[in-house]
Amino acid sequence: MSRFFSSALSHLSPYTPGEQPLTSYIKLNTNESPFPPAAHAELSLQLYPDPECRALREAFSKELGVSPSNLIFTNGSDEALAFIFLSLCERGAAFPDLTYGFYSVYADLFRVPKKIIPLREDFTLALSDYAGLSETLFIANPNAPTGLAHTCAELEELIAENPDRLVVVDEAYVDFGGESTVPLIARYDNLLVVGTFSKSRSLAGARLGYAVGNCELIADLYRVKFSFNPYSVNRAALEAGLAAVRNRTYFEENCTAVQKTRAALTAALRAQGFRVLESLANFVFASPPDGDGRRYYEVLRARGVLVRYFDSERCRPFVRITVGSDDQIDALIRATKEYLK
Ligand SMILES: *Cc1c(COP(=O)(O)O)cnc(C)c1O
Repeated sequence: MSRFFSSALSHLSPYTPGEQPLTSYIKLNTNESPFPPAAHAELSLQLYPDPECRALREAFSKELGVSPSNLIFTNGSDEALAFIFLSLCERGAAFPDLTYGFYSVYADLFRVPKKIIPLREDFTLALSDYAGLSETLFIANPNAPTGLAHTCAELEELIAENPDRLVVVDEAYVDFGGESTVPLIARYDNLLVVGTFSKSRSLAGARLGYAVGNCELIADLYRVKFSFNPYSVNRAALEAGLAAVRNRTYFEENCTAVQKTRAALTAALRAQGFRVLESLANFVFASPPDGDGRRYYEVLRARGVLVRYFDSERCRPFVRITVGSDDQIDALIRATKEYLK
């Protein structure tokens, strides 16, 4: 730390991204898509991008069944989440102990008081634990790294019962079999849905995320975006995003393929004695029979297969495995059989 670094930020412990190796691995560690993005048009990188992302908002709002004024695009959903922590969490933020790691990092960065609510023993999130709080709630649905999800009706109950509290539903993984809460935004002005093109639309490298909500909430997020970097969504991301929205069939095929492979992976691991949580995302949270997540991670890695291991008390028995292509998952299963020998 330099002597110029703000002492108010000396407590930060930054987010640890999953490894992005320079050599080739079968890469099942950061929930990317195994499929290439939809083909897109030529770029004019000499020009600034449209800071309001109008063409993409027009197209994607139709797909979501909302008005363009209910939608903002951001540099990955991480940027949308950052804006929410910065501007919509005056009374603090509440979220589970096991969930997306950035919630805690952003809370610290923006000096938002945190209320951490442990998941139950079986890793389920009990929505009743979130009743009667005053903080802004962050619920990843499906949750990461567990893959467990709530129905839209269950979340609606929480949103309806707490009209004066903002509920942020992070739907990064919803396209792999979850139920979206986007249709509820017409009825609830205390709901903000965050989503991303990184996973189901194969654009992790483009950095394209969004938030959907009541038009006043979206106008608030635009206020923050235009106070920071109006051009944070670049032209390459806009073009690739538009192609992804236009090619609906390709998107649906890829989501279906992931769900099929997820079922096969879950069954194969269970057949080998693993505990595998019931995932509705593009990953599974799985514990080998010996309960040693770290050793399993290391053995896979030595055999060229990269999965994610989280070195925290509740996660140590597990690894998180991204649902890759069928070939990638076959290689994982072969390496797993060697591990069990
Ligand atoms: C991957 C992920 C994000 C971030 O997505 P980007 O759009 O790539 O920034 C947000 N929330 C959850 C739960 C995620 O898993």
